[in-house]
Amino acid sequence: MTMENGEDCCVKVAVHIRPLIPDEKLQGCKDCVSVPPGQPQVQIGTHSFTFDHVYGSTGSPSSAMFDECAVPLVDGLFQGYNATVLAYGQTGSGKTYTMGTACREGSHVGLIQQVMNALFNKIDKLKNQVDFQLRVSFIEILKEEVRDLLDPALSVGKIENGNGNMSKVTNVPGKPPVQIREASNGVITLSGSTEIHVSSQKEMAACLEQGSASRATGSTNMNNQSSRSHAIFTITLEQMRKMDPIISCKGIALEELNEDYLCAKLHLVDLAGSERAKRTGSDGLRFKEGVHINKGLLALGNVISALGDEKKRKEGAHIPYRDSKLTRLLQDSLGGNSRTVMIACVSPADINAEETLNTLKYANRAR
Ligand code: ADP
Ligand code: MG
Repeated sequence: MTMENGEDCCVKVAVHIRPLIPDEKLQGCKDCVSVPPGQPQVQIGTHSFTFDHVYGSTGSPSSAMFDECAVPLVDGLFQGYNATVLAYGQTGSGKTYTMGTACREGSHVGLIQQVMNALFNKIDKLKNQVDFQLRVSFIEILKEEVRDLLDPALSVGKIENGNGNMSKVTNVPGKPPVQIREASNGVITLSGSTEIHVSSQKEMAACLEQGSASRATGSTNMNNQSSRSHAIFTITLEQMRKMDPIISCKGIALEELNEDYLCAKLHLVDLAGSERAKRTGSDGLRFKEGVHINKGLLALGNVISALGDEKKRKEGAHIPYRDSKLTRLLQDSLGGNSRTVMIACVSPADINAEETLNTLKYANRAR
């Protein structure tokens, strides 16, 4: 690991600027975000920030995002390194579009679908030498509670309510809550959440779709499909060397690392909207949820900035993973040998300038 030159720093930060959407154009919004040609910089008003990558607007095309942000993480997964991709930004900034966690978003292919493609292509190439096992979980954290999006009862979506009528299931009675556990070797596991073994890309895509459909959304006056929860799609890859000595294993990770078994996971996270509670006109229950979401995002910001502080890290400073469910769950996949990419999503519209600036400041702090 070469941490010194900053090249291999544990957190990479990219900004994804979406185009003005029809609704913003109708409102007469102007583009207030600019990118100087050929530079990973974002300018808004008198502020200028530099990131690892900038996509959209006049930055690199979004198609480069997968190659630059996700491919190194997928490669790392095959070498046994955990990884996390985080989509951060205000509601409506394009987090769900970027990750691909919307249920049937037309023909748009998000990062998760691209990751699946790459994963299965690679498995196809190596399957003669290595036995692979893939597992998927999909959960969301809402109000500091973990909810299983692949719960079979939710996938049915509806149950009979006794009068012969169907009612939507939101909570399964008697089911113990999902809990985050830490094993003595530091591995974080979830107890009480569904893990699905998948053997094809189609099966994995079905899990993504099923979980996306069960994801809780609530309406605020910013976006009636706004999500107040963090959605975490996790792919666990296990690799076992086949015991046939005739087959050459040269060039694959197990051989390079002299291992017979490797296990690593990749978390793909569509974070809750980062907007301040006051802007969403929240009150009562919704406000409480907003406060809790901010707790996760606040803790994440603190963890990432502590990880990015080389001096602190060398001194073995405390990393506040325990401050929220989100950071606790991601603990073994943020920092250490794991690879993390934060994609800060922003709207270019002038009406969102204040939140865009907040997002850029948060992302800047992560570098
Ligand atoms: P969020 O998940 O951050 O609330 P969404 O992903 O739902 O935001 O995006 C809000 C709207 O903007 C959606 O209508 C989406 O289709 C559109 N959108 C987001 N990103 C892009 C993009 N890069 N190109 C075109 N449209 C986009
Ligand atoms: Mg969303």
